[in-house]
Amino acid sequence: MPQTRRLLARLREMMALGFSMIGAADRGGVPLGDLAALVASEMVAEVCTIYALRPGDLLELTATHGLNPEAVGRTRLRVGEGIVGIVAATGTIQNLPDAQNHPAFVYRPETGEDPFASLLAVPVRRSGKLVGVLAVQNRAPRRYLDDEVELLETVAMLLAEVLAAAGVRDGAPQGLGATVPQRFKVTPFAPGIAVGPVVLHGAGAPLRRLVADDPAEEAERLNAAVASMRQTLDDLIQTRLPSGDGPREVFEATRLVAGDGGWMRRVREAVAGGLTAEAAVYRVTNDIRDRMRRIADPYLRERLADMEDLAGRLLAALDGSEALPAIPRGAILIARRLGPAQLLEWHARGIGGVAIEEGSSAGHAAILARALGLPAVGGVRGLLTAVENGDGAVLDAEEGQLILRPDSELRIAYARALDARSQLEAEFAAQRHRPARTGDGVALSLMLNVGLAREVEQLDATGAAGIGLFRTEIAMLAGGEVADVPEQAALYARVLDAAGDRPVRFRTLDLGGDKLLPDAAPQEEENPAMGWRSLRVGLDRPALMRRQLRALLLAAQGRTLSVMFPMVATVAEFRAARDLLMAEAARVRPAPERLMVGSMVEVPALLWQLPALMAEADFVSIGSNDLMQFLFAADRGTPGLAGRYDFLSPPVLDALDQVCAAAAATDTEVSLCGEHAGRPLEAMVLAALGITTLSMPAASLLRLKAAFASVQLAELRAVLMAARRNAAGEASLRAPLLSWAREHGHLV
Ligand code: PEP
Ligand code: MG
Repeated sequence: MPQTRRLLARLREMMALGFSMIGAADRGGVPLGDLAALVASEMVAEVCTIYALRPGDLLELTATHGLNPEAVGRTRLRVGEGIVGIVAATGTIQNLPDAQNHPAFVYRPETGEDPFASLLAVPVRRSGKLVGVLAVQNRAPRRYLDDEVELLETVAMLLAEVLAAAGVRDGAPQGLGATVPQRFKVTPFAPGIAVGPVVLHGAGAPLRRLVADDPAEEAERLNAAVASMRQTLDDLIQTRLPSGDGPREVFEATRLVAGDGGWMRRVREAVAGGLTAEAAVYRVTNDIRDRMRRIADPYLRERLADMEDLAGRLLAALDGSEALPAIPRGAILIARRLGPAQLLEWHARGIGGVAIEEGSSAGHAAILARALGLPAVGGVRGLLTAVENGDGAVLDAEEGQLILRPDSELRIAYARALDARSQLEAEFAAQRHRPARTGDGVALSLMLNVGLAREVEQLDATGAAGIGLFRTEIAMLAGGEVADVPEQAALYARVLDAAGDRPVRFRTLDLGGDKLLPDAAPQEEENPAMGWRSLRVGLDRPALMRRQLRALLLAAQGRTLSVMFPMVATVAEFRAARDLLMAEAARVRPAPERLMVGSMVEVPALLWQLPALMAEADFVSIGSNDLMQFLFAADRGTPGLAGRYDFLSPPVLDALDQVCAAAAATDTEVSLCGEHAGRPLEAMVLAALGITTLSMPAASLLRLKAAFASVQLAELRAVLMAARRNAAGEASLRAPLLSWAREHGHLV
């Protein structure tokens, strides 16, 4: 232990001075070779060598103590080549008493390493990504002890920061391991372009201090943080855990890991060795992660997940503040998965765009991104392994690409594209006060889908006809709970005030599926999208539903009130929901001037109940996101299925025809408020079918109005009819419709 502490103290002095790197413009500082010499002397090794990862997957001998100094900057190994290359390729430690007789050994005469038999090499990683390899060697054949391995791993962690900082100083903006631009094909979720640095969802704050000033004080800090973390865990178990033994056991297991078992003991030891508490958590966690990486046993893998969760909690407790650290404005968020509530949190922190590795375009995070006007892309595997916090990035949801570490030419080109885009937007904005109509004079009602009170200002910005879908659950997700009646009433009143004469359709809570409140007891459901969600919850918990209905009626203050119910599957459900509304309406004064009650059509079973439904509903609105999901039995949240089934396909168009026919027969107002309403070609086809009230994200509205202005609907109807007539089992009619739209220049 004293050995570790002495080494760390000396390293801290060196780091304070900064290191000078070979090949870097000389700005003084300690030569990196001194670090190698210090490590060699403390570990009683004859050789210590540092390899840095260079572009092209090459490991370059960057500093050495004990090998031929002439080899510095000259000896290069490919990742996977030689023992050092194996360490880099596999991320594993190599501890070999007789390295030269290892089958993978590669002899490089210029290094002069012939006399050294034993070798210990460890990966140097930063934020989980390889930046180099650190090795020590001795003449005598020996296996290095566990303590020595741990010591070298600790040095490797510090070295990672040194190499990254050197990369920055040398003008390579993203460190040594990641300087090459990388381009990904992505699925656009929400239109727009963003240029900025990357922030990673779930990544902890960067390690600022690695070596503690006073290990005893640091141990105190750690103790306090552990006590606070245990308290939080206990509270969780006491108050938030759903009933049943299963969840309790899982949490008890987590608490055990948090006890004084192996993980915590090792963190304490690392602090006693001189690391800061944060650095100790990182080092021990990384080490255990490495060792467990190849273990397939599901039980042990679960323990790894527990440990990672605890590491996150402990780091948060050490940080001491609940407040989230500031991020650069306009940063691009990259996440593996992201729920709508998390996206809202990030949006409030000022991100300029988002990429969700495992997201899909119909998922609620994507919908929310469109609602917020936040450029978003997704469905891209392997993105997180290629990116680091702080990397520069271009997110281009127009062309469906994400470029990491773009070079300066590309950045300039995008700056130009952004300029051109704002010009185009200015042209669209000129459409704001024009009536929405087609080239042959058919009037359209273009409305907005919104979910937050502050989005209502988009009504004026876009000149929309009203709000066709107010997703009431979004504000609840943003607030983290279902607000009480006065709070809800105040929110709805603000929306109605801002809308003025323009109609607003409030949809009752559509929670469940992927829209879960943070404290909602996790449901044991095989298939939550088809589970106990949305109106089903409202009907089974009428008190909750009535509170919301009361708040809506109170907000109306005698004005017109439009309420619609989501996920209606039977006419009986619609009636039950309407009865709850009527019961509340009988009690609230002043009564609304007019009460409009509608139903979403998004569960396919309703297609066979349309006449009965429309005899009772004042209006229906087609929820094409869920209708598509349930018609094709294709989960809207599964990225691999995105685009597999087309909205412009015979079964969907037939279903829409049925809705239009039933609506015409009963004189019921029909609209569509799924995401398809905001896509130009789909919107034109909807209008051609007779659905002229379309509700969409604000970002699509002006562009759509401009596109419609030249469309001859009669002509499109003929093209559509021919395409449907000729469709012999076609999965999509998109091709002929698209070529018609392109030929006539309708797709701006
Ligand atoms: C839909 O399903 O199309 C819809 C508008 O509702 P949501 O996307 O909120 O489920
Ligand atoms: Mg829906």
